[in-house]
Amino acid sequence: MTRKIKLLIVDDEERFLRTLAQRLTLRDFDVTPVGNGAQAVEIAREQAFDLAIVDLKMPGIGGEKVLELLKKQDPHIEVVILTGHGTIDSAVECTKLGSYHYLQKPCETEELLDVLKNAYWRRVQSKLRVDEDRLSALLDSATSESPLSILRKLRELEESGKPPGK
Ligand SMILES: [Mg+2]
Repeated sequence: MTRKIKLLIVDDEERFLRTLAQRLTLRDFDVTPVGNGAQAVEIAREQAFDLAIVDLKMPGIGGEKVLELLKKQDPHIEVVILTGHGTIDSAVECTKLGSYHYLQKPCETEELLDVLKNAYWRRVQSKLRVDEDRLSALLDSATSESPLSILRKLRELEESGKPPGK
C-alpha cells in the first residue's frame, strides 16, 4: 500500500489548527498538528515530513524562521505559508526564503488541496532530479571502478531515494 503523505501543520490558533488537521486527515494525509514553531522544528528533526503548512504570525518562533529552519533540516520539504490579513508582504518574503506558496486565511479546503498537490509535485520533481544527477555522476566515474563497488553505490542511491522509514 502507498504510504500517506506526511504533513506538518503549525499554527498557534488551536481551533483553526484542529479543524484544518481534521479536514486534511479526512483527505488521507498523515497529519501532525503542532501549536508552536519551536515544537515544529523539534518534531521535524525526529521525523521526516513531505509537506508543511506554517502560520506566519505566531508568538515565539514565527513562520518565517520556522520555514528557514525546516528547509535547513530538509531541503526537500515543501512549505506552504498561511497568513492573516495585512501580512502579504512578509508572505512574499517567505517565497524568497523557499516557501512553495502562501495562502490567506481563511482558505477553502479545495484551494489548499490544489496548492498541496502542486507543492508535492515540486517535491517529487526535485527529488527525482537529484537522483538523476547522482546517477549520471556515478556513471561518469563507473569506468574506473569494480562492478561490485558500482553495485553497492547504485544500491545506496536507490535506498536513499526511498521515503524514510522513520
Ligand atoms: Mg497565528
